[in-house]
Amino acid sequence: MISVQAHLDRILAVIEPLSPLQLGLMDAHGCVLTEDVVAPAPLPGFDNSAVDGYAVRWDDVSGASEHSPAVLPVTGDVAAGPASPLRVQPGLCVRIMTGAMMPAGADAVVPVEWTDGGVASVSITRAPAVGSNIRRSGEDVQAGDVVLEAGSHLGSAQIGLAAAVGRSRLIVRPRPRVVVVSTGSELTEAGQPLLPGRIVDSNSPALTAAAIEAGAIAYRVGIVPDDPRELAATLEDQLVRADVLVTSGGVSVGAYDVVKEVLSRIGTVSFDKVAMQPGMPQGFGTIGPDSTPVFGLPGNPVSALVSFEAFVRPALRKMLGATPLERPRVRAVTSAALTSPLGKRSFLRVSLGVEQGAYVVTPVSGTGSHLLAGMARANALAVVPEDVERVAAGDPVEVLVLERRGR
Ligand code: AMP
Ligand code: MG
Repeated sequence: MISVQAHLDRILAVIEPLSPLQLGLMDAHGCVLTEDVVAPAPLPGFDNSAVDGYAVRWDDVSGASEHSPAVLPVTGDVAAGPASPLRVQPGLCVRIMTGAMMPAGADAVVPVEWTDGGVASVSITRAPAVGSNIRRSGEDVQAGDVVLEAGSHLGSAQIGLAAAVGRSRLIVRPRPRVVVVSTGSELTEAGQPLLPGRIVDSNSPALTAAAIEAGAIAYRVGIVPDDPRELAATLEDQLVRADVLVTSGGVSVGAYDVVKEVLSRIGTVSFDKVAMQPGMPQGFGTIGPDSTPVFGLPGNPVSALVSFEAFVRPALRKMLGATPLERPRVRAVTSAALTSPLGKRSFLRVSLGVEQGAYVVTPVSGTGSHLLAGMARANALAVVPEDVERVAAGDPVEVLVLERRGR
């Protein structure tokens, strides 16, 4: 038996970050940048109005009030879009829209709400501060600024900023392509009629979704029966599009555990008992001409998902170049006693909440590795370490926070 940490270390020693690639802006969303993005020009690119109103010379309006409005002839209109050809002469003003280029000569914008909205001439009843309502060129970003550093995770704001500085392509680590295969002659595709003794394949949908949640591109191959020839042929076929292969089932000691047999033959894959619950039997290694990493996860649905959390997700994060590899961990108090076999790390399905400003977990499921409904109720996994057999109610426990948002 090897420890969870030792098994993970062995996996991470084999897994390499994917080589950077230039991708279109939207394809780079969710990826990690491997170049510094430099602004070629300032942002804003020119002085422009922050409001709809009137571009004025401050001297002409500095005394304006309800009682003695400043009344100025309006000599033109400037909208967002074209460069302003206008100049504001003393005693005059120009109507201006949000985002429109400031006309020369003006040094403040009076919001339309402080005026009568006049078109030929405008009556201004409040004095703005000098320079007010002007967005200055370079106030956000200066030409030559590094706006996004290599290593940045590209979320929505980062994608927007990259676009704003003119980038339609970015150099990033691409998303790993994960091929998911379920093995088992008892399996039926969801939605198909179930014959007696058969069960629905829930692992390939769950693991495909988990891979997407981890930031990968996932291909669900679906069900392969416990037939060594068919399994070998399927895996070899899939190698062309896989950065990682994930199988479920067939890794324990049953008579038809073909994954073990096939992967040991066509790849360099070892099968171990890992000191954890659930998820004890684990296969990991490489197959094919490119030494593609392959995970042979156990078949029980909760074991498969917990194994994914413990081993596959950190590996995918490493391929993405993302940090940290692990889920966020918090310390919580358990509302009920937790038990765990001595010598094994337990991952217990819990509901994590906050009570009076402190994290609290409540078990939501038994420990059976077939109890998928409990896994679906859990939003976190309490991790009871190898040397602990019991955590009493009211005692602290470490918790992995599961956030299951896709894409
Ligand atoms: P195995 O590791 O193949 O012996 O499978 C262990 C248990 O998990 C058995 O009860 C299987 O029927 C079940 N199982 C295996 N693969 C799946 C799957 N893809 N979806 C749901 N249950 C599965
Ligand atoms: Mg099986």
